Amino acid sequence: MSVSADDSLVRITEIFYSLQGETRTVGLPTVFIRLTGCPLRCGYCDTEYAFSGGERMTIDQILTTTESYHPRYVTVTGGEPLAQKNCLPLLKQLCDRGYEVSLETSGAMDITDVDDRVVIVMDLKTPASGELAKNRFENIDQLTQKDQVKFVICDREDYNWSKEQLKNYLLNEKCEVLFSPVHDQALATDLANWIIEDNLPVRFQLQLHKYLWNDEPGH
Ligand code: SF4
Repeated sequence: MSVSADDSLVRITEIFYSLQGETRTVGLPTVFIRLTGCPLRCGYCDTEYAFSGGERMTIDQILTTTESYHPRYVTVTGGEPLAQKNCLPLLKQLCDRGYEVSLETSGAMDITDVDDRVVIVMDLKTPASGELAKNRFENIDQLTQKDQVKFVICDREDYNWSKEQLKNYLLNEKCEVLFSPVHDQALATDLANWIIEDNLPVRFQLQLHKYLWNDEPGH
């Protein structure tokens, strides 16, 4: 059976080189491949510009653009990258090229078929996100030590809910757990204090790129 060129197309909002703003590789120069489209609508979403539009590129074109930056780290993000079926072969081919590849995913899509070499950074959506019902908790069983679960926390109720999930799913025994405040200085300080008071086995993180570039696309 012949394979048409369309079979390798991925809709891309942007590809750029910047510093990783969060996760375990925060601060490291990284190529970001932002796929277009997301089936969720989180209240705090900072990438609404990736919901539509974009440019259809072949996986070869994406690989060529990525290589032009000579990166060590590559992050596939969105939107929700797994909403496009060709995200899976893209991840595999990036790993085959020897990059350290991570995937940022909402937690609403099945991660079973993601290449084992990929570091999965998976959200669990809190009540205040407005997308609690989209969490696919079965994904938790697929996570391993190299992976990370991220909670974006908007208020004390979100914090309490996140703490419950941490305990119920023994998350910190499976992978690294990240607690991140929505972009709000007062909440960031509160969240840091709550984590210390409760002695939680989680990593507090701020989104570096928001401080450096105030969320401009391309960074
Ligand atoms: S999953 Fe991510 S991209 Fe989609 S709406 Fe939520 S924050 Fe935005």
